[in-house]
Amino acid sequence: MRIFLGGGSLRILVTGGAGFIGSHLCDYLINQGHDVLCVDNLFSGSKDNIRHLLDHSYFEFIRHDISQPFFAEVDQIYHLACPASPVHYQYNPIKTIKTNVMGTINMLGLAKRIRSRILLASTSEVYGNPSVHPQQEAYWGNVNPIGIRSCYDEGKRVAETLMMDYHRQNGVDIKIVRIFNTYGPRMAINDGRVISNFIVQALRGENLTVYGDGTQTRSFCYVSDLVEGMVRMVGTDNIFTGPVNLGNPTESTILEIAEKVLALTESKSRIVFKPLPLDDPDRRCPDITTARNRLSWQPKVPLHEGLEEVIGYFKEKLNAKPQPQPESLG
Ligand code: NAD
Ligand code: UDP
Repeated sequence: MRIFLGGGSLRILVTGGAGFIGSHLCDYLINQGHDVLCVDNLFSGSKDNIRHLLDHSYFEFIRHDISQPFFAEVDQIYHLACPASPVHYQYNPIKTIKTNVMGTINMLGLAKRIRSRILLASTSEVYGNPSVHPQQEAYWGNVNPIGIRSCYDEGKRVAETLMMDYHRQNGVDIKIVRIFNTYGPRMAINDGRVISNFIVQALRGENLTVYGDGTQTRSFCYVSDLVEGMVRMVGTDNIFTGPVNLGNPTESTILEIAEKVLALTESKSRIVFKPLPLDDPDRRCPDITTARNRLSWQPKVPLHEGLEEVIGYFKEKLNAKPQPQPESLG
């Protein structure tokens, strides 16, 4: 029997809730009046991201590795636990696969047992180095199964497969979103992703490290837009499983991003070119027709506005006294 909390609020499990996106999702759900259970092993996330929620009576944090079984009575599961930056997911690739495969099996087993809806935070990386542009959900992708990104790309592809098989075989109520590059406050200073790297480098007066010749493209979505899309996806009827692309279709080259960051920070830093990492995709841009039609969703925050927010966040963070963070990688 399901006992609902008053005021239409739900009990919601967020795996990876102490991470960059997960912590913003927890904020959103708490603000909507829901009861949030955040489960995270703090591998790439941090208690700093959720410190402001720890005393909230509707928020609970449990340090747990989801590659081990977990049980709780909840109404919905947002399954985000998985390191997302190449530096973090390549640090221990076997662990990344275990998180994606065993972690997703554990969460699907839980969803099946307690009959809750479950959303998987999948990724545009399932398209690999795409030969179709922009990427539509119907495209099956071009992924190297044995490369250094495979632990993540193939891990997420298996996670999607598991979601669909639990749905077909056991009737689990699933939702899959494929998230394209997302940025915002609470990205880790050391996580190696391009937006955080460039902003931190510019603010410290260090060289901005463009990998390759900088002509590769990405499309950057601000985190509040993404969270809105995820919540809308969970709110759709139970026949619709996705996958749905969530991202901002405004495409930029990496060199353009570097130049934008230099202009917005008024930094005297220079741009330097470094070798392109193996299997780095040439281009990436979401076709968001499905999200527009099914979720009435599209991103609202323009790149320069989002970048200003992140620049403000990192300015504060870099000026603050260093805090010991034994849970994080460094
Ligand atoms: P993040 O690294 O900041 O957050 C991931 C969180 O999961 C961290 O708090 C980490 O400690 C936790 N975690 C990792 N392994 C775990 C495990 N075994 N058990 C419990 N917790 C674990 O990354 P993010 O950018 O917030 O990404 C969140 C999700 O969104 C990920 O699933 C990622 O694949 C997906 N995604 C993100 C992006 C992006 O651009 N940020 C793009 C595509 C997909
Ligand atoms: N990149 C870069 N300099 C950096 C970090 C990343 O030029 O300091 C490039 C990287 O090679 C890739 C793009 O920026 O082409 C996006 O990298 P990120 O790690 O942010 O995301 P992903 O490759 O997973 O899309």
